[in-house]
Amino acid sequence: MIYLDNNATTKPGPGVIEAMLPYLADFYFNASASIAAFTGVEKPRHDAANAMAKLLNAEEPDCFTFTSGATESNNWVFSSLVRGGARGRVLVSVSEHASIAAPSADLTKVGFEVAQVPIDGDGVVRLDALEDALSQDTLLVSVMAANNETGVLQPLTEIGRLIRARSPKALFHSDATQAVGKIPIDLQGQWHEVDMLSFSAHKFGGPKGIGGLYIRSGVELRPLLLGGGQEEGRRAGTPNTPALAGLAVAATLAATADLSTLAHLRDVFEVDLFRAFARAVIHGVGAPRLPNTCCFSIAGVVATEVADMLATKGIVIGTGSACSSGAAQPPKTLLLMGVPYDLARAALRLSVGPWSGPDDTTALLRELQEAVGAD
Ligand code: PLP
Repeated sequence: MIYLDNNATTKPGPGVIEAMLPYLADFYFNASASIAAFTGVEKPRHDAANAMAKLLNAEEPDCFTFTSGATESNNWVFSSLVRGGARGRVLVSVSEHASIAAPSADLTKVGFEVAQVPIDGDGVVRLDALEDALSQDTLLVSVMAANNETGVLQPLTEIGRLIRARSPKALFHSDATQAVGKIPIDLQGQWHEVDMLSFSAHKFGGPKGIGGLYIRSGVELRPLLLGGGQEEGRRAGTPNTPALAGLAVAATLAATADLSTLAHLRDVFEVDLFRAFARAVIHGVGAPRLPNTCCFSIAGVVATEVADMLATKGIVIGTGSACSSGAAQPPKTLLLMGVPYDLARAALRLSVGPWSGPDDTTALLRELQEAVGAD
């Protein structure tokens, strides 16, 4: 199989499964029970927090709380606001993942004013609109680090600066699910204004069902899951020790990954794409993008049909389409960028990973030409 859909999920990195196995088989003990200190089952959580702190250059490992993944982390941020007493304004970018869009929309039912900040033709948040929307009573701003459909990166440094200048009470959250492991991140450097950051292990070579929320020292959140007081009272539930062990290895590998290899593979693909299809369009090409992602349309095709055909040839690629009520929808981000419906419906998403190579992208182009016919 040729797997080119690494923004959907990734194959576990080398050593990830092996690191998990002992905690599934022999060291199955409950890490929140008192015996934990004697059995070593606290080690995976400790290793995971240290590895994440190193990967993101966080000020300390204690800033990480582990969750079931980015969907939970994102929901937590909004539920914490609801549980607090204050009401005010919340800003989210219009192209957020559903796990931000849905809980933020819900806030309007309980007295918050929620505003969506528009994006430009490349999918970048419009800083002028953000600046206008920020007010003294803004409590939270949430802007994703990298878009899952296009790979377009948001200018979090500039956004952080605007928030601090205009909304002194606001917390700044970023859903960095697609960015972690794919671009260098420095929470004490270029992203030092980010207060909370969501991530998910299965997007960077770790197992599914584990992720977390970075919470800057001094920021208080009310828990989403109440119960046994695990994670220093921030998230109840028996720790997922095997998954934490896998996450620790994946984060350690990500910290030394050669990201230029991904970029080279993607860039060569884009040159070859235009050679094969003069009518091809690459979405978000005018903005900084993730090094592994190319969201492109070949006018006239229907992406889901092409993806189905490629699957019969053993090639997996993303369509970006969200399947709701049985009907495949074009990627919402593209429509918000002003891409015409038919071109958005043709959008395919290549997302390469550490296991991908030039033979994979060449095979994809060959099969695309076969299916669509070269220009
Ligand atoms: N946020 C973004 C930007 C994503 O791309 C995804 C998954 O596709 C999620 C959140 C949800 O992540 P998880 O699978 O960990 O719930």
